[in-house]
Amino acid sequence: MRGKIDWQNYRSIVVLTGAGISAGSGLPTFRGPGGLWSDAKILEFGTVDALRERPFEVWRFFAPLREKLKSVQPNPGHLALATLEADLQPEQGFTLITQNVDGLHQRAGSKNVIEYHGGIYRTRCSNRSCFFEPFEDFDAHLEEPQVCPFCGDPLRFDIVLFGELIPMDAQRLAKQAIRKCDLFLAVGTSGTVFPAADFVVTARSHGAHTILINLEEGQSNVTSFNEVYFGPAETLLPELLAGKTD
Ligand SMILES: [Zn+2]
Repeated sequence: MRGKIDWQNYRSIVVLTGAGISAGSGLPTFRGPGGLWSDAKILEFGTVDALRERPFEVWRFFAPLREKLKSVQPNPGHLALATLEADLQPEQGFTLITQNVDGLHQRAGSKNVIEYHGGIYRTRCSNRSCFFEPFEDFDAHLEEPQVCPFCGDPLRFDIVLFGELIPMDAQRLAKQAIRKCDLFLAVGTSGTVFPAADFVVTARSHGAHTILINLEEGQSNVTSFNEVYFGPAETLLPELLAGKTD
């Protein structure tokens, strides 16, 4: 079977993924209906001010998501993107920008991944000038506050909180990739809010073909995309990106 997206004909592909791609793995979205947290709780605990004032409460607030990662697996949507990257010719560029903090793309085998909002499976020091390197950790450590072995400040999850900037490297690399891509795919995101809404405009203004794959038409930014597909990413992506054999 040949997929519906002729990815063989593009020289540089950028994929942006949002919470919708991990929903098929049974991972609840951060917020919204059925989400892990209400908007009110997110605004109470998910901020840089809360982290400064009560770091262990913020830790305990996000810990269930890290805990949940132990029992979830990448789904066929994640795997289809990893296969796509592996099947490209050496001269074809590929960048996967994800807003998800779950690390499921890397576990599926994706290589060139930009984590726009960090990764909850990493821990780092809350002191920005500390030299302690972020490290991978899948334990929730709920029993006692974790402190930095170098400076003694509280440790924190390596995710972007409200009031914090997107990491500079992630911003720069994403911008570069979007400006030179000729195919832009947004998956599992409505395309109406930052960063997807900006990315699609930039990609189009640089001549890229743009495709949206999202669960529902409602709320989706249909007008900014050349093609739109509605349905679960874990079903649609394997069909749309199906491989070389006819
Ligand atoms: Zn430190």
